[in-house]
Amino acid sequence: MAKNIYCIGRNYAEHAKELGNEVPQAPVVFLKPTHALALEPKTIALPSISKDVHHEVELVLILGPRKSNQPQVQSFAVGIDLTARDLQSEAKKKGLPWVLAKGLKGFAPIGRIIPAAPGENFQNFEVGIEVDGQTRQKGSTRDLIFSIPTLLAYLDEHFGLDEGDLIFTGTPPGVSALKSGQKIRAWVQSAQGEKSELIASIS
Ligand code: MG
Repeated sequence: MAKNIYCIGRNYAEHAKELGNEVPQAPVVFLKPTHALALEPKTIALPSISKDVHHEVELVLILGPRKSNQPQVQSFAVGIDLTARDLQSEAKKKGLPWVLAKGLKGFAPIGRIIPAAPGENFQNFEVGIEVDGQTRQKGSTRDLIFSIPTLLAYLDEHFGLDEGDLIFTGTPPGVSALKSGQKIRAWVQSAQGEKSELIASIS
């Protein structure tokens, strides 16, 4: 079973701007090692290698078996694309890959997995995160630069998509540093009210 963790960078214009990046002309794709995945963790441990770990809350899609040779989204969850911003800035400066900044163990926590409604196009999902009860990020997939159908077609054409693959679809603006002792609540919610949540302590 395939289990790739695809991630899309700079998929909300306002987030691209807050980090001083240009709005991309094609999806910005990177991957996390599978050991980054953590299912409904109660605790997120900050790694000693970074002094500046940011939350990036994202809608995560989970692929099921292909149908008529097309990729199928079987379910969704909230996910946090944890990012060691200090390591990422250094990598960007040197033109090096982002694996160390984005792919550390446990750096892809996801909340409860919810079955996707038949034919769901994911065009109106709220995506948000609170830190110690204060909203830090709140956005809507309406504002995605590359829509979910576009991302599915792009990833399938160039890399392949199959059962067990995950896609982190990009983060809205408001990313900020996490500190030990904080509590987070992250969520994604469909227009019909189907919701995935992740509640965890930072240690
Ligand atoms: Mg991200």
